[in-house]
Amino acid sequence: MTIGRFAPSPTGPLHFGSLVAAVASYCDARQRGGQWLLRIEDVDSTRSIKGASDDIIRTLAAYGFAWDGEVVYQSQRSALYQQMLEQLQARALVYACTCSRKEIADSSTMQGIEGAIYPGTCRTHAVATDTAAAWRLKTQAAPISFTDLIQGHQQHALASAIGDFVLKRADGVFSYQLAVVVDDALQGVTHIVRGADLLNSTTRQIYLQQLLGYPTPLYAHIPVVINRDGQKLSKQTLAQALPSDNIKATLIAALAFLQQPLPDAIHTYSVDGIWQWALSHWQLPHITAAQHS
Ligand code: GLU
Ligand code: ZN
Repeated sequence: MTIGRFAPSPTGPLHFGSLVAAVASYCDARQRGGQWLLRIEDVDSTRSIKGASDDIIRTLAAYGFAWDGEVVYQSQRSALYQQMLEQLQARALVYACTCSRKEIADSSTMQGIEGAIYPGTCRTHAVATDTAAAWRLKTQAAPISFTDLIQGHQQHALASAIGDFVLKRADGVFSYQLAVVVDDALQGVTHIVRGADLLNSTTRQIYLQQLLGYPTPLYAHIPVVINRDGQKLSKQTLAQALPSDNIKATLIAALAFLQQPLPDAIHTYSVDGIWQWALSHWQLPHITAAQHS
């Protein structure tokens, strides 16, 4: 059974980049005869915008998406993340870290793919358990690799590419990396189709899957949509919210971005008609790795 999912963070309304990811994962799952789940990634409540989840759900429905089962909210699943963290604690695969941001900046000498690498200061000295501490996962020098269905072979030695990364922050918030791995596994997700901005996260997620005894899903990372200045569409780059009055043209633009074949008459189709075409002609292999706008 194929299970795909769309997992937006409610940090603002959906924009064209999020639509492209949703369309790709939806068409992929449905074309394989599978289910498609909707999960709201509100694990970090400090970043959630009030009303954004409902707005996202309304927008997806208006664009004609139909998800299976109930919408899952990460904010209601902390007990599950805690349970998995405790498993890793019991096996000494994680350690408490009380370093401040400044201490890390001052002590770090190595640059990884996402900036300064945490030098492992707290790996070896025990921290008093009453101090508020972050929990970091011990990474290894052995490479983690996978073959992305669009981006091809990927490989990282996590210790030198990323370093020991945080699974739970000192303020008690679980990290995206832990929450996404636990949820994808517990929801039985088999095919993950998402933006290439998350390509570098995947080896961390595979490592966690291995430690927790979860299967590794198949991954397809689609090119990110960029604006005229070459920036990824996001709330930070002031991407516009998806229009509610121009749904057909926007959906067609998303399919065109995904390099799907479209009939000349597509603009005369209804929203349902566009979906029927898209689902019966979907070709993941048409999507190329290169970024284009
Ligand atoms: N919540 C993440 C985001 O909106 C996506 C997570 C994922 O697809 O793995 O960027
Ligand atoms: Zn530390």
